[in-house]
Order: sequence, then structure tokens, then C-alpha cells
Amino acid sequence: MVLRKILTDAKIVEQKSLAKDIFLMRLHAPDIAKAAKPGNFLQVKAQRGTTLLRRPLGIAEARGDDVSLIYRKIGKGTAELAAMQEGEIVSVMGTIGNTFNLNLKKPLLVGGGMGLSPLLFYAEYMKNASVLMGARTSAELFWEELFSPFVKEIFVATEDGSKGEKGFNVAFLPKILQQGKYDGIIACGPDPMMKKAVEIAKEANIPVEVSLERRMGCGLGACLSCAIDTKSGRKKVCKDGPVFDGEEVFF
Ligand SMILES: Cc1cc2nc3c(=O)[nH]c(=O)nc-3n(C[C@H](O)[C@H](O)[C@H](O)COP(=O)(O)OP(=O)(O)OC[C@H]3O[C@@H](n4cnc5c(N)ncnc54)[C@H](O)[C@@H]3O)c2cc1C
Repeated sequence: MVLRKILTDAKIVEQKSLAKDIFLMRLHAPDIAKAAKPGNFLQVKAQRGTTLLRRPLGIAEARGDDVSLIYRKIGKGTAELAAMQEGEIVSVMGTIGNTFNLNLKKPLLVGGGMGLSPLLFYAEYMKNASVLMGARTSAELFWEELFSPFVKEIFVATEDGSKGEKGFNVAFLPKILQQGKYDGIIACGPDPMMKKAVEIAKEANIPVEVSLERRMGCGLGACLSCAIDTKSGRKKVCKDGPVFDGEEVFF
């Protein structure tokens, strides 16, 4: 199990809105920042929050003594996080989970929506990646500015065509693979996007990793709420993942 089990109270040093209902929260958490590797996630909740369980969020940045999370407000737990102010305390468990392949020479990141968050950490850490990003609309493409200092190329698709190619990002993946000699694909986003990315990678004979999001309880491998079936048996997303060989996963 890849859990560097640090339970800590972390002060919010920055909380800002990036788009409607999407926030970046930077936490002062030196031990976690030192231990963090791309692919890892944290279980977080507001210290005075009302949810029993922490919520899993991928690490988007780890710089110096701080880690950042980028999250969409969708339910009770994330609404409580979004309502917090700088100076308030978040209860954090982590780092949790395995990492992406950190040995690729020319990775292509394929991210949709909030799935771009853990890929951002990978892009900054590796500095050799290109990214194909997908969003519903250009208003959610603040990601371009976040990725641009760290990546070689950025390919953009929006579902409404308001920026870049019109349609789902994976529709453009075969063409991008033909043009560049990537040695691996790393995908994170909605399951249908990752399923398609795996099919395309298989056809192009390129290894592919996916980072899965499942409803999670304990984050420690005990409660089984995030269990999935894979080609090599039952796995827990929190304990065995969240990063899996794409060809192992049944979508
Ligand atoms: C390893 C991992 C990393 C994640 N990283 C990020 C991230 O970087 N940024 C981000 O915005 N979100 C991320 N998520 C999803 C995030 O955990 C959920 O959005 C969050 O737990 C919802 O909590 P809530 O209390 O606000 O919503 P709830 O009230 O619990 O649920 C609201 C809705 O969200 C759905 N939902 C709840 N939990 C999850 C979940 N774990 N995965 C998918 N859908 C869920 C529910 O089915 C429901 O429809 C990640 C999930 C996992 C497992």
C-alpha cells in the first residue's frame, strides 16, 4: 500500500476561484509537500466541517512547503471546502496512492475537466510532457495558463467549440499520435474519455495509464467502497491506485 500516512491540520494560504464553481486551494503542509509525487491524492475535509468522511482530491501542485488542490464544488463536502477562507484549517490525510510513470521521455497527457488537476502536477514535475485538454466550454480552460510554463505543446478541444477543436478531446487523439512520437499516454477524466483513450493507445501500440475516480470512504483500503474489477482481479482505487495500466481496467 502506498500511503505515507500523515494526518495533519493544514492552514489555507490561498483560496481562489478559477471559474464558476472551480477553486484552487493552497495549503501549508510541509511534510505532505515533501512526500508528494504526481498521481498521489489527499483526503480532505474542513476542520469544522459536518461531513464524517474526508473527500479525495488529486494533488495539483507541490512547491516548497505548500500543496495545491483544484476542485469543483459539486456536493456537501466540496461546498464546505469552497466556503472556507484563507487562514482557516483543513484536516488532511495523505499522501495517498501510487504515482504515474515517472520514466517517460515524451508523455502525452490526456485530461478532461477536473481530471487535468493531477496531470498538472505531473507536467510541472516532468517538464517533458504535452497535453491534450478537453473542457465543456472555453470558460473552463483556465488550465491552458496553468500548464503552459511546463509543457511542450497544448492541444485544446471544447465540447461547444468555443476554443480549439470542437468536440471531445479524444476525437483528436489519433491525429496527435500520428504527428508526435510519444512513448506513453497518461489519462485522467471522465470514464468514457479514458476508455476511448485506452482503445486508441492500444491501436497505436502506446502504453497508457489512467487515474480513476471512484466514490471513496476511508481511503485506507479497508472499507472497499472504491473496489473495481480489473483483468488481474479486484483492486481498490485508494490502495492499489488511483493510477492503473489502462489495459487492465474494465470501463
Ligand atoms: C483519487 C481521486 C482524486 C480526485 N481528484 C479530484 C480533483 O483533483 N478535483 C476534483 O474536483 N475532484 C476530484 N475527485 C472527485 C471528488 O473526490 C468528488 O467530487 C468529491 O468527493 C465530491 O464530494 P462532495 O461531498 O462535494 O459531493 P457528494 O455530495 O459526495 O456527491 C455529489 C456528486 O458527486 C459524485 N461523487 C462523489 N464522490 C465522487 C468521487 N470520488 N468521484 C466521482 N464522483 C463522485 C456523487 O455521486 C454525486 O453525484 C477525485 C476523486 C478521487 C477518487
